[in-house]
Amino acid sequence: PSKEYEVLRRRIYSNTKEFWYYVNSELESLNRSMKGVKRFHKIKNIVGEHFRSLLKDISELAEVDNYSTWRQQESESLSILVQSRLEEMQNPPNWFTARQLMCKFEKICGFGCQLHHIVYCFIVAYSTQRMVFLENYKYWEYGNVWPNVFLPLEETSTLLKNISVVEWPGNQNSQIVYLPPIDIIKSRPYFLPQMIPADLAPRLTVLHGDPIVWWIGQILKYILRPKLSTTHTLDDYADKLKFQKPIVGVHIRRTDKIISEASLHTLEEYMVHVEEYYKLKELSGGVNRKRIYLATDEPTLFEEAKRNYPEYEIIGSEDISKTALTKYRNSKEALIGIIIDIHFLSISDHLVCTFSSQLCRIAYEIMNSLHPDASTRFTSLDDIYYFGGQSHKLSEAVLAHKADGPDEIDLQVEDQIYVNGNHWNGYSKGKNLRTGLVGLYPTFKVIPKIETATITDTETLIS
Ligand code: GDP
Repeated sequence: PSKEYEVLRRRIYSNTKEFWYYVNSELESLNRSMKGVKRFHKIKNIVGEHFRSLLKDISELAEVDNYSTWRQQESESLSILVQSRLEEMQNPPNWFTARQLMCKFEKICGFGCQLHHIVYCFIVAYSTQRMVFLENYKYWEYGNVWPNVFLPLEETSTLLKNISVVEWPGNQNSQIVYLPPIDIIKSRPYFLPQMIPADLAPRLTVLHGDPIVWWIGQILKYILRPKLSTTHTLDDYADKLKFQKPIVGVHIRRTDKIISEASLHTLEEYMVHVEEYYKLKELSGGVNRKRIYLATDEPTLFEEAKRNYPEYEIIGSEDISKTALTKYRNSKEALIGIIIDIHFLSISDHLVCTFSSQLCRIAYEIMNSLHPDASTRFTSLDDIYYFGGQSHKLSEAVLAHKADGPDEIDLQVEDQIYVNGNHWNGYSKGKNLRTGLVGLYPTFKVIPKIETATITDTETLIS
């Protein structure tokens, strides 16, 4: 297919959703202000049916246009290319002369956060053509368990201990460069998310709705290469849980997260989107039973879900959830629990969660390494997709907009916007780089702008 065809098909799909977010949120607020208007429910139902019918037809375009085999093959071929590059990067002909990038486990944070730190390290290593090695890996709280579950990550060889370590960025001749964490590094590498590799960009922008997620998914695919025994354990676990499709993965992050970093969302708020998923799915038939895979650090939600949603099959483990409580988080059981939860969330058909949680973003990234394009298989109750510490997310206006109220900003065609978030009511918030103003604008008036970077010398890599 041409790039124009694929981009347009995806734009119609996402703008149909944006249209619905807008109408739905306006109808809800009209209903609140004009209580008891009988026609409200009728209008909402019929508009909802219109929306789902349109969305179903647009999704089917990708099945009837005879490109699905191409999409599958293209995604496999790109994945093989990237995996082999990472393999080569991590297996230089001679370790003792190879240029290396050293990262440490020095952040005190959860599993998702640590994993994203390793991803960041891989991206910088890839872009500077160095090999990653991880210092202190043994001292990482999961360092003892990791080699039993995944193929080992490279560790510092004792023979390299005598070579001096230079702090990032170093130069071409520095054999070992130490890379500080993304949130404190002073000279920020240029090739950070949401940059994607320039040589892959022409193919990725045809294949995928959000290439950066594909790229991060591929790096995770390499980092999380399971041992054979892990694959068996997960398969056995799937049998034990009676994991079956269709299924929606629901991740509900509570406890420490909602004290300072994110808002509390009720189970109902998640389930509205699960319901929406099944209503759409029912149009194409094949929903024998509605299921969710529930992962959460709030164990009481299992009881609540079973009580309030008896028509649903609730799959997941309350025992795992209990190990997710802060006081148990660093145990071996907790790590196994996280891996199980991430696995089943990522192989679900759709994800409903808060993207403010790294755990859910990890599941979504992995999900995108399992399909040619899974960029629409999520509903986030808060943030849009981002990589923690990323430079920015860029969009470009394709339709002009006149601000209607003090919260909104003007757009001219071709204006560049740094996107902060989507309010999921038809509007997004961002900064217009031409005017310097920050505010809301209708989401459908912009398109994502893919930024690319090439592998260059270390010296030119600072942004
Ligand atoms: P974030 O804090 O949600 O952004 O994600 P992190 O992964 O960095 O830290 C959260 C930690 O809480 C995880 O690493 C787990 O230890 C625990 N946790 C949170 N939600 C879940 C869940 O649904 N299942 C399991 N098994 N653990 C969870």
